[in-house]
Amino acid sequence: MKALLSVDVEDWFQVENLKQAINRESWPRYESRVEKNIYLILKILDERNTKATFFVLGWIAEKHPGLIKQIYSQGHEIACHGYNHELVYSLSSDKFYEDVSSAKNLLEDIIGDRIIGYRAPNFSITDSAIEILSSLDFKYDSSLFPIILHNRYGKLKNFPVKNASVFEIKKNFFQVELSYYELLNLKLPWAGGFYFRFIPYYIFNKGINSILNKKDYYLFYIHPWEFDPWQPRIKNIKLNYRLRHYTNLHKTEYKFKRLLQDFRFSPIRDIIPPIKENLKL
Ligand SMILES: [Zn+2]
Repeated sequence: MKALLSVDVEDWFQVENLKQAINRESWPRYESRVEKNIYLILKILDERNTKATFFVLGWIAEKHPGLIKQIYSQGHEIACHGYNHELVYSLSSDKFYEDVSSAKNLLEDIIGDRIIGYRAPNFSITDSAIEILSSLDFKYDSSLFPIILHNRYGKLKNFPVKNASVFEIKKNFFQVELSYYELLNLKLPWAGGFYFRFIPYYIFNKGINSILNKKDYYLFYIHPWEFDPWQPRIKNIKLNYRLRHYTNLHKTEYKFKRLLQDFRFSPIRDIIPPIKENLKL
């Protein structure tokens, strides 16, 4: 299958757009809604007999190990989204190593299987992070979003970025790019999140078909809090952050169901060549 599906497992109060109002220390004070929202996603996936990759935040896994086991037991891939959801380029190499290795170990302990995939919070990947991920025995990173317009996304300078969505960025280590739609000279993010909620579904669908005609793969991502229009509203943040977070939350479930009807998706693990065998720890 050429369409890949991913879910970034984090709670509504952990996102970068709300960081102005909610700092890391205050997370335990907020109502956790991730379980309810993940169960909704699992139900929708089950109805469509679709498997996905779940990039799980270590902080969530520690609080909800049963949830992670449930996702895994339904045949989905568990991958790593770091521990504390900090922008990778804001961390020293040592801190990044600590963040990602503690999350990986925790997830492997919970599911008793190997974790091979990583996604950086807000796609904030760097060259040195790729080296560290490869040294920790990850087999792929799915954080590269080659969009210049968005200043929060990370960049890779030292690795060859090829005209393919999935490519071997170093020996036995793959990059799985987030999808974009090329219009004139612009690359528009076309992989999910805010853009999926904002753009009318039939246009988004046309864009995916056009990407699938040109590229080797299409990669979609979504968050559990995007399915939750009833989440608490945080007001004291910048208007554009508020728009990014809250636009069309009530439409996600309907649009996501249509997406799964129109395309057949698979988890990322299924298309990474060298690790199809010997996956068990
Ligand atoms: Zn995230």
